[in-house]
Amino acid sequence: MSSGNASVRKLRIIGLKKRRKGMIMQKPSEPRVGIFWLYKRHLIVDETPLSDAERYGDVSGRPTSHIDHWTELQRNKSVLPELEYDEFPRGRVVYDNAAQQFILRADACILRSSKLVRQIVRKLHLPPNTKTERDDHYRCSVCLRRNAERDERE
Ligand SMILES: [Zn+2]
Repeated sequence: MSSGNASVRKLRIIGLKKRRKGMIMQKPSEPRVGIFWLYKRHLIVDETPLSDAERYGDVSGRPTSHIDHWTELQRNKSVLPELEYDEFPRGRVVYDNAAQQFILRADACILRSSKLVRQIVRKLHLPPNTKTERDDHYRCSVCLRRNAERDERE
C-alpha cells in the first residue's frame, strides 16, 4: 500500500472521530418560543430558538401573530382555507426574562390535556419549570360557545 493511501485513510478516521465527537459535544436543543394550535388532533407549531426571539419588555417571544401565521398556513394549504384561525384551540410560549421562566399560555381545551401539554413541552424543548397559564385571549369556538351558553343561563 502506498503511503498516499494510508494518509487518506488516516484522514477519514480523523473525520469520523470528529463527527462522533461533534455529536457528543452537541448541546441539548435550545428551548424555543412560539405559537401553536391544536388542529384536527395534531399540533401545528411555529417556533424559534430563544436566542432568536424578540424581546418586548420583560418577555421574549416569537413576533408572528396567530392571524399572520394562519394566513400563511392557508396559503401553503396546510389548513383548509375556509377555516378561521380562532376556531381551533391555540396558545403561545414566551420567556419571562425577569423570572427566567418559560410560560405556556393556552386555551383551556389544551391545558386540560396533560398529554398535549407534554407534547408541546417536548416539541419546544421546554425545561421542567415551565409555567402553564390559561389565557382568555385564546378561546376556540367550543370554549366561546360554552361561555355563551353559561352567560345565557345566568
Ligand atoms: Zn377551547
